[in-house]
Amino acid sequence: MRKKIVAGNWKMNKSFPDAEELIAEIADKLESMDTFHQDVILCPPYVYLEMATDIAEDSVFSVGAQNMNENDTGAYTGEISGSMLASMDVEYCIIGHSERRKNYGEDHTLLAKKVNAALRNNIRPIFCCGEVLAEREAGRHFEVVRNQLDESLFHLTDEQFEQVVIAYEPVWAIGTGINATPMLAQEMHAYIRKLITLKYGETLASETSILYGGSCNASNARELFSQPDVDGGLIGGASLKADEFVKIVTSF
Ligand code: PEP
Repeated sequence: MRKKIVAGNWKMNKSFPDAEELIAEIADKLESMDTFHQDVILCPPYVYLEMATDIAEDSVFSVGAQNMNENDTGAYTGEISGSMLASMDVEYCIIGHSERRKNYGEDHTLLAKKVNAALRNNIRPIFCCGEVLAEREAGRHFEVVRNQLDESLFHLTDEQFEQVVIAYEPVWAIGTGINATPMLAQEMHAYIRKLITLKYGETLASETSILYGGSCNASNARELFSQPDVDGGLIGGASLKADEFVKIVTSF
């Protein structure tokens, strides 16, 4: 069954005590909710993952990393591998975030290797795709997203693909306060699901969670999540406040 998911991407924010307080606060709030039919994933910076997985042991949320290396071990100073994340009970990893594509030159080929590395270590990729403003203005958004999926995801077998969560994040909406309208989000999500159907068939496509990301917050989440092909959100800025984040979690 297709899961409703809300994932928080903390990016490079919070001191250790503040991170611990925020996770504990989110865990408390989640615990006091009676109806719970959506998955919650917190993706704090690497250095807080152990603390997060410790708290997660007694809570309902899962823990994800924001990035990982494509190799499992070796001389890669400063890097973190999927096998290391798996050994700390990390279940998810964001792969292909636009900030990594843009600031660290992560291309389709590298991202395909990262997806493979995640899966061989039983980490579920949250694979990000999305166009920049110029691409949308040029009417190339569908082609750009199709290419991102073709080049970095669609080499997977059915069994591997089943583990993938997709996040459509139009780059012009990330951190700008300008979210995609529910209609634009739905249009792209339906297109992504159609591409999955063509590649993997209807059953797998209907079971794939496709999240929306880009200035999603407690005020606009409900309308975005009410779209038939929007299965939740990947939340940046609004995931850094417990109240706001939990409101988003309950916006289905
Ligand atoms: C993100 O970076 O994944 C994101 C969606 O950020 P924001 O919610 O702040 O736009």
